Amino acid sequence: MPELRKDPITGRWVIIATDRAKRPSDFVRDKVQIRGSGFCPFCAGNETKTPPEIMAYRNDGSRPNTPGWSLRVVPNKFPALGIEGSLNRQGEGLYDKMHGIGAHEVIIETPDHQQTLATLPVRKVEDVLWAYRDRIQDLKKDKRFRYILIFKNHGEAAGASLEHTHSQLIALPVVPMHVLEEVGGSREYYNYKERCIFCDINRQETEKGVRLISENQDFLAVCPFAPRFPFETWIIPKVHESAFEESQKHEFENLAVMLKDMLQRLDKVLDYPAYNYIVHTSPIQETSNDYYHWHMEIMPKLTKVAGFEWGTGFFINPTPPEESAHFLREAAIEAAAQS
Ligand SMILES: [Zn+2]
Ligand SMILES: [Zn+2]
Ligand SMILES: [Zn+2]
Repeated sequence: MPELRKDPITGRWVIIATDRAKRPSDFVRDKVQIRGSGFCPFCAGNETKTPPEIMAYRNDGSRPNTPGWSLRVVPNKFPALGIEGSLNRQGEGLYDKMHGIGAHEVIIETPDHQQTLATLPVRKVEDVLWAYRDRIQDLKKDKRFRYILIFKNHGEAAGASLEHTHSQLIALPVVPMHVLEEVGGSREYYNYKERCIFCDINRQETEKGVRLISENQDFLAVCPFAPRFPFETWIIPKVHESAFEESQKHEFENLAVMLKDMLQRLDKVLDYPAYNYIVHTSPIQETSNDYYHWHMEIMPKLTKVAGFEWGTGFFINPTPPEESAHFLREAAIEAAAQS
């Protein structure tokens, strides 16, 4: 019998297949491979082919928009939103609109075309996290913005238009609906119980262990109770913190270790899948609070979202999270046995 499960944070229902659960080898998909053929504007030496850089990490004192960088942030060449101007909020009868103001930036994670976040040294993955933080801190000063979303599309199937590893940042003049659902759900839970729901999830998942994939000093990796997608993985800080950018040095170090480890495990178990990840952090105006707890969600692209999902907001997930967690836990044990 399939199971209907409710996500305790958002109230979203999912349908989990329990009888003919899909194993990693049952998913048909294209393996993400770096071909490296053709021109790439993100490679070292092609700095003039992107808009001028906003920020870069350079250890050699090289000049902006020249080679020598280890990480580079540039405006998106085809931005979803424009940075200049005022919001100009207006009503058109019962409809609301405003100018499409926002920031859309690309974080080029390495000059090396052949690398991914799973293959880069941990120290370089940590730099990517610092770059997220630096950009958030800077954009938060802009009073027009209410939310900053960091996300990554890896592989064509996950929406990446260039294969050179990169993440994106979009600053928005509104708080997006999915974030409102999570923040609202967390606030309600807090008002009722005077506890953070994510802190409670951490406690329960650590005790039970069935959906726990891994933990280190500062982070847990779990498959959530009601995941939308097979092998959906959340990385949650152990200590309550509502904003990603407020994390401490040791937390960024341990997040880099955890993120790289999880991406390596997904590569191993699912044979280099396309995936998306997002950083869910507090809206700018409520950065520090007791009810919302920032986290990362990693979603391998294994299933298609179709009419039923669009019509209901329900997702059908063919792999129970207990099984996903089991495969992802085993991946590390096998790796350890081989080395
Ligand atoms: Zn490249
Ligand atoms: Zn918490
Ligand atoms: Zn979330």
